[in-house]
Amino acid sequence: MRAALIREHGDRDKILIEDVPKPVAGSGEIVVAVKACGLNYLDIFVRRGMPGIVLVDERPPLSLTSDKSTECYRNWWPGPGDDMVALMNRSIDLLEELARESGNVFRLNRRGYLFATADPAQVPVFVERAREAATRGVGPARIHARAASDYRPAPADGFEDQPTGVDVITDPALVRRHFPYLADDTLAVLHARRCGWFSAQQLGMYLLERAREAGVRLLEGSVERIDTTGGRVHGVRVSARGEDVTIATPRFVDAAGPFVGRVGRLLGVELPVFCERHAKVAFNDVLRAVPRSAPMTIWTDPVRLGWSDEEREQLAGSADHKQLVEELPAGVHGRPEGAGDSPVVLLIWTYDIEPVEPTFPLEFDASYGEICLRGMSRVIPALAPYLTRLPRVFVDGGYYTKTRENRLLAGPLPVEGAYVLGALSGYGLMSSNGAADLLADHITGRALPSYAPAFLVSRYDDPAYRALLEQWGDSGQL
Ligand SMILES: Cc1cc2nc3c(=O)[nH]c(=O)nc-3n(C[C@H](O)[C@H](O)[C@H](O)COP(=O)(O)OP(=O)(O)OC[C@H]3O[C@@H](n4cnc5c(N)ncnc54)[C@H](O)[C@@H]3O)c2cc1C
Repeated sequence: MRAALIREHGDRDKILIEDVPKPVAGSGEIVVAVKACGLNYLDIFVRRGMPGIVLVDERPPLSLTSDKSTECYRNWWPGPGDDMVALMNRSIDLLEELARESGNVFRLNRRGYLFATADPAQVPVFVERAREAATRGVGPARIHARAASDYRPAPADGFEDQPTGVDVITDPALVRRHFPYLADDTLAVLHARRCGWFSAQQLGMYLLERAREAGVRLLEGSVERIDTTGGRVHGVRVSARGEDVTIATPRFVDAAGPFVGRVGRLLGVELPVFCERHAKVAFNDVLRAVPRSAPMTIWTDPVRLGWSDEEREQLAGSADHKQLVEELPAGVHGRPEGAGDSPVVLLIWTYDIEPVEPTFPLEFDASYGEICLRGMSRVIPALAPYLTRLPRVFVDGGYYTKTRENRLLAGPLPVEGAYVLGALSGYGLMSSNGAADLLADHITGRALPSYAPAFLVSRYDDPAYRALLEQWGDSGQL
């Protein structure tokens, strides 16, 4: 049987609605899902042998948020507990599997995340954090306190045969030997090793191809209504090219990125999520200030930007920019981007995290590029010459869709047959394999991993969890 409605179709990424089979009553075969990050979750469903998956998206694959990412991954996550690290380790296992089977078409590397400080008080904190992380599954802590210590640098490419865990170098001479581009007053670095980056676009295209081969269909359209009569999913109405299409299905996954809350409301569910606007800067580092083989480099100290007296006075009088004369939060970071001769460097500095309603197109502060460059030149002084003559910068970004403690949602919703895969915040590309794997376990009724409860929406119903939220520390956001 067919749910025939529209005739026209575009390129290979779109399906003919005639091709959407109707589910056999009660078979529970069709999952209709609004698109999820990098399409990774389709791959997971496909691996579980679930037939009849229809991916509904009103935009082309890998757009909106998933192509705005810095494309990094890490198993370096704070507690409480080890759930976040366990989910991320699983996700990275799956990423590595995909890299192996595809001949690493998406260029997964293992350069690590390099946290650096010039604050003496931070040095013992690095050591303590590394040791504490080892107890939560991040991997062993190796402390290098002498210049002769056997710290092993990361290769620029590839991911095999690399250490996990964390290296902390507390000997400034050893820091300088391995990271000569960092500010001279850098006292210590923490190098988290099961971390790096990859090409999200390449990964997405690979997964899309695989999903297509396995029979997953893509429908370009907007999910407008979900029939939840009697407290269970019966069907989804999609507006596709001006026509309304109703797909009968007992299952629906809300993976609508920044609109996960809006789509949740179609199910009558209020999801505990909000959005923050985040931007990244790309520019051509023609001075080669950032070594092409550098890891992701993060400054863990707050930064006071250097301004002339005149600039300072002007900024202090500006409603939008007066905070720039104050101390800005820790966390300015960046990395080289692209293979071969690419001169591109990416920078991010999260100093404005007001919750906002997601609207498109996004607008960014015109001075964001300069501010990131100023901040990052505290970390990598060779960037400072750009401040006298600013390079052309390209700024783009999207929304981090978050829960209050910055832990994603993957699991069933109170409406039977409805699921959520969302609130992937600033870590959706690195976590989506693991989150989708978890959701697929929920949908197929398989045994759930130990970390499953930490990502349920229903966790907020637990008074003990609500009490824990009140004293939640670091959310792991960079
Ligand atoms: C500046 C920045 C840097 C980042 N850096 C990293 C990083 O280094 N590493 C990392 O892992 N993550 C990073 N992220 C986060 C990552 O990009 C996101 O977590 C991820 O892209 C979210 O994916 P998503 O599929 O949930 O959302 P999206 O990619 O936004 O996809 C949601 C889709 O749902 C569709 N949709 C919504 N409503 C409907 C509807 N009613 N009907 C039909 N379709 C609908 C939209 O069209 C969209 O295509 C970064 C994000 C930003 C903004």
